[in-house]
Amino acid sequence: MSETIFTKIIKREIPADILFEDDDILAFRDINPQAPTHVLIIPKAEIATVNDIQPDQAELVGRLILTAQLIARQEGIADDGYRLVVNCNQHGCQEVFHLHLHLIGGKQLRGMSK
Ligand code: AMP
Repeated sequence: MSETIFTKIIKREIPADILFEDDDILAFRDINPQAPTHVLIIPKAEIATVNDIQPDQAELVGRLILTAQLIARQEGIADDGYRLVVNCNQHGCQEVFHLHLHLIGGKQLRGMSK
């Protein structure tokens, strides 16, 4: 997989507003937020898309969701609710080919567009 802008954020080659980091996961605010809270949660491992997740990465993927849960609480949006989105490839409008979970909330969201 070729390096993406998210790898540069992991390596601190470009700045980001980082909210969480451990050995395997990084979370930072989206540069073009779609709601008052819009955070991207990524594995440090270079996994391009959902299609590329391997069975032995199931725990890591689960921890991405638990990290979203933690950040939602920290942001104060857990009880009101939020949306977790993972875009995949062209039809899913994926722009950055490094797996990422969008955590979006802080306002009433509209229904999912078809
Ligand atoms: P996706 O369409 O699911 O691939 O979403 C990629 C997301 O990355 C978009 O919401 C962008 O606004 C966001 N993004 C791109 N570059 C940066 C950056 N340097 N820092 C933070 N977010 C970024």
